[in-house]
Amino acid sequence: MDIQPALTQIPTASAEALEALRIHYLGQNGSLTAEMKALGKLDPEARKARGAELNVLKTQLAEAIAARKAQLESEALNAQLAQEAIDVTLPADPTYGGRIHPITAAMEDIAAALRTLGFSHAYGPEVETDDYNFTKLNLPAHHPARQDQDTFYLNPFAVADTKHKTQNTKHLLRTQTSNVQIRTLEAVKPPFRVMGIGRVYRRDYDLTHTPQFHQVEGMMVESGTTFAHMRGVLDEYLRIFFGKPLKTRMRPHYFPFTEPSAEMDVECHLCRGAGCRVCKHTGWLEILGCGMVHRNVLAVGGLNVDDVQGFAFGAGVERLAMLKYGISDLRLFYESHAAFLRQFGKAAVSAA
Ligand SMILES: [Zn+2]
Repeated sequence: MDIQPALTQIPTASAEALEALRIHYLGQNGSLTAEMKALGKLDPEARKARGAELNVLKTQLAEAIAARKAQLESEALNAQLAQEAIDVTLPADPTYGGRIHPITAAMEDIAAALRTLGFSHAYGPEVETDDYNFTKLNLPAHHPARQDQDTFYLNPFAVADTKHKTQNTKHLLRTQTSNVQIRTLEAVKPPFRVMGIGRVYRRDYDLTHTPQFHQVEGMMVESGTTFAHMRGVLDEYLRIFFGKPLKTRMRPHYFPFTEPSAEMDVECHLCRGAGCRVCKHTGWLEILGCGMVHRNVLAVGGLNVDDVQGFAFGAGVERLAMLKYGISDLRLFYESHAAFLRQFGKAAVSAA
């Protein structure tokens, strides 16, 4: 039997060709196996000589196949390692650190501006009673101004009952941070300057309204406080928040909890007062509501308007952030697009 053709093929055989060769010679029905089986038919002398010869051939062939198999496996492993190798010299994919959300950043900037003017934080609950959200703010039941604020009532069929309020009180999600004013008036003796910043809720959703948004509220109560003090504080507060002096103006307005009341406008930052689409060609943008604290509201804290006076103001945090950052659609704040959010605010942690 001649295995020379096989031995010459082995060094270049692929894994599949090698296995075919092995089966052809050494498999159960292989030619070499067949010759080994045929040994029994030979006479003893010839069997011995032929057996030794076949054993040598079998060993030669098996060793050559095993050597080539090991070589193929080593080549395959090297190829895989080369393919999976990491080139540490290539530039890395950019990584983004967390950032402060623009609304949170705006609230921090508002608080920082008001702190420099002597205002400290005060708080009120987000689930509030009808009493603290409306009645004590000079908005008794059936007051028409209640209709302006589409309220989420938690128990709409409860009757507002001041006599038995623990048993039968209407609860709601606060529609304004002004509840902080009442809770402060009841708990703190003047003089004081407080700010309340937080979430408020109304049943509203469109380009400029979301059901949950944020307000900032400020209140200063001190003997001798005048409308002029309010104007000065608000101008300075806006100057610090926007980082530059802004022209402002006040228009007479109505709020139940202040008297007199005003709305404050800032000069349009886009057209600088010339008139454009954003400011509806007026040159002005409404920015906050304010006024002298109403005598009925002061009375909640047991205060008499002849002894002590105060002013209060309130603004939407989203509105302030939109004006500061030049954003035209309120909903962008809440849609969680990473590319949008990455443009604003400070880095929460320094990027590595
Ligand atoms: Zn404008």
